[in-house]
Amino acid sequence: MKVCKFGGSSMANSEQIKKVCSIITSDPDRKVIVVSAPGKRFDDDTKVTDMLIDCAEKYLTNKDYSDALDRITGRYAEIARDLGLNNNIIDDIENNLKTRLSMHYNSQAKFMDRMKAAGEDNAARLIASYLQSLGVKATYLNPKDAGLFLSDEYGNARVLPQSYKNLARIKSMDGIIVFPGFFGYSLSGEVVTFPRGGSDITGSILAAALEVEVYENFTDVDSVFVASPKIVKNPKPIKTLTYREMRELAYAGFSVLQEETLEPVFQRGIPVNIRNTNNPSSSGTMITPTRDNIEYPVAGIAGDTGFCSININKYMMNREIGFGRKVLQILEEEFVPFEHMPSGIDDISIIIKKKYLDDDKKSRIMERIAKELRVDSVSIEYDLGIVMVVGEGMKKTVGIASKVTEALAKGSVNIRMINQGSSEVSIMFGVSENDVNKAIVAIYDEFFS
Ligand code: ASP
Repeated sequence: MKVCKFGGSSMANSEQIKKVCSIITSDPDRKVIVVSAPGKRFDDDTKVTDMLIDCAEKYLTNKDYSDALDRITGRYAEIARDLGLNNNIIDDIENNLKTRLSMHYNSQAKFMDRMKAAGEDNAARLIASYLQSLGVKATYLNPKDAGLFLSDEYGNARVLPQSYKNLARIKSMDGIIVFPGFFGYSLSGEVVTFPRGGSDITGSILAAALEVEVYENFTDVDSVFVASPKIVKNPKPIKTLTYREMRELAYAGFSVLQEETLEPVFQRGIPVNIRNTNNPSSSGTMITPTRDNIEYPVAGIAGDTGFCSININKYMMNREIGFGRKVLQILEEEFVPFEHMPSGIDDISIIIKKKYLDDDKKSRIMERIAKELRVDSVSIEYDLGIVMVVGEGMKKTVGIASKVTEALAKGSVNIRMINQGSSEVSIMFGVSENDVNKAIVAIYDEFFS
């Protein structure tokens, strides 16, 4: 049995959906299908999820939302008509959206998640109808009926452990199951969504629960590449990657998989195959627990922006037992996660994603560090980008860091910090946000040109 997930670009219009359905029906093992909401049809297009967010925001701020709603129903209606489906499904989708808007809500976050989830929910209904119209036995399955329960962190949910046992029951269901991605339900019955791009996570949870042979994740590229094709011209494709490599690369900007995707499959060792809806004959990239063909020590180079660093200095910091814990406790009390923490004998830098640090939190954290920890200095540095050089093979290879630093020097990129994790599967370089792409090109050329 296989779980197949189709992303937004595979769901964008009727032409893409026809490709999706022919992929599904071409292999009897493709039994559980997870779908995203319709995505962009062309570069400047808007994803249905973004249209839903826009509509929900207008509703919450008492603005006229009727055009926004019409645009969403229009997208589905166009797809349904082009697929030759009758008006019932269009009416159903319209009613579904109107019901979501009119239902009582006691928090904006809950309302927002209920609206966001409509994209995937209606896409799944549409695909199930289309498959039925082709004479295929297909059933839409609602995540609540299936028992996909999530933490009540709206927009940022995590799966609750009991879901796996519940979802395993799908095994005994007949025909093809079409499951909407991106959302589940809290134990109190509210719709809760994963972070953006979270349909990948739904697919991974189902793959793990059903212990399938492979989780196929269909997107719009032939494979994962060593570096983003938007930054490097014709980068090398990657045939196999380990979970750890993919996780590091996804974290640092490879958008082909949502960064939290691999956790469920990782625990059960289920391989993930990234494939292309527009070119299903290509074998894509396999993500597996380990890999033998470590031809290159570096598997991939990724970069991301939007970081800042809190830099703390205190003379004799190394002798002060509990210093690190106290800093992290302040962050914990402010609900701010940290990303990296390079340190020296008298200083620590804590790298944080800027999005978690609003002005109030920033002032409170800085003030508390200064006062409670009696530091010599504490400052915050913005426009920090990170570049990650990732590869299982780096551990056994001498000179990787020196090659990278040489490449960065040649490319005139100033390194603001370096951090190598204990697993040696990645080395992180902190650079100016403006230098991230330049750094990726320089490192790529050094290792692959
Ligand atoms: N539709 C959601 C988003 O745009 C989830 C997904 O596509 O995976 O983020």
